[in-house]
Amino acid sequence: MSTAAAILRKGWCPGALRPMQSGDGLIVRVRPRVGRLSLDAAGAMADLAARLGNGHIDLTRRANLQIRGLTEDRLDGLQVELDRLGLLDGEPESEAVRNVMVTPLTERDSDVHRVAAQLEPLLAFDLRLRALPAKFGILVDGDGPLSIAGERADISLRAVDGVFAFGVDTSRGTQWLGACPAGDAADLVRAAMLTFLGCRPQRRLRDVGSTGFSMIRSALTPKLAPVPSFDASSRHRIGLLEGAVGLAAPFGRLQADQLRQLATLAAAGGAREMHLSPWRAIYMRVRDAEAGRIVLDGARAIGLVTDDSDPLLRIEACPGAPDCESSTVDARGDAHRLAARDFKGSIHVSGCEKGCARSAPSSLVLVGDHGRYRVIRNGTTRDKAERQVASKDIGKILPERIDG
Ligand code: SF4
Repeated sequence: MSTAAAILRKGWCPGALRPMQSGDGLIVRVRPRVGRLSLDAAGAMADLAARLGNGHIDLTRRANLQIRGLTEDRLDGLQVELDRLGLLDGEPESEAVRNVMVTPLTERDSDVHRVAAQLEPLLAFDLRLRALPAKFGILVDGDGPLSIAGERADISLRAVDGVFAFGVDTSRGTQWLGACPAGDAADLVRAAMLTFLGCRPQRRLRDVGSTGFSMIRSALTPKLAPVPSFDASSRHRIGLLEGAVGLAAPFGRLQADQLRQLATLAAAGGAREMHLSPWRAIYMRVRDAEAGRIVLDGARAIGLVTDDSDPLLRIEACPGAPDCESSTVDARGDAHRLAARDFKGSIHVSGCEKGCARSAPSSLVLVGDHGRYRVIRNGTTRDKAERQVASKDIGKILPERIDG
């Protein structure tokens, strides 16, 4: 499958079967099924990243993993190994549409897990759904100590009081149309997706306009009951949780050796798998609180973030140069320098205006532009800059007030 034609030279959504060219080689994105990865698979991926890639692994905002720095001649070998681990799809077209985010730490026998596990084969095997845009995504949220409710997805399912609230993305956020039994959820998601495909071609469901939205609502609401009230706020935490731990990698970048050591620590702590989150933290169920503390101590010792108050969690940065060809600045290196200073609020350091690391506003945004940074306050990479600074001078920005 490692033909040049299968490689995206530019684009947003690489896969394992259709990698993307970047400044540091090919990027292969692996979509763990139902958002979880066995410890054996995690260890094997670390070995593959070190042996066949450049040892860098990204945790993505879609709760996937990316192995970076491959060359074309190593692609076949990587795909064979991913297939052996059960991490390879049948074709690039089905891989591209299998975009399902699931709340981390859900139980295997929960409705949330069951519904997410039904959606993945549905997306893979219903050939009509291959026409979905590559960025089209579904989230399944619900039980457990965490919630991905704050993430944006074209279709949202939320377990509440024994049913699933069914939401669709609009220009004003998720609109909850009604509720359905768990057993009907996957079929209704299929109906919504097919109706979306019947609208004027759009990249995202929120772009279908009032006519498209009415079509989707008409297709679904006869099958939906009123939505029970529920708390739709997201819950992100890392550190020691009840029966589990959560930890993060600075800017979502793991080194192969860190992932290998983390898999070993997790196994010693009684974990069996890693759960990935869209906020790029990794979660694991552990034997007890003592085992959790040992895992966290070990993770901290290998450079991972284990404390909710760590300022690194308030900085987002994309790879920037030299990893990404679109950038003229070392976004992550500069973000590390900023992390060492006092700051309030959130910071987004972006290699270019595309803003891959974060689409939501930040208190301070630095956007790479011809070797300098455009400085934006309380906005996104696409907002108006107040001025430009040289990369070497970015630290001087921080003594100024940053609104939190
Ligand atoms: S935002 Fe960063 S990772 Fe995305 S294209 Fe620009 S430089 Fe590359």
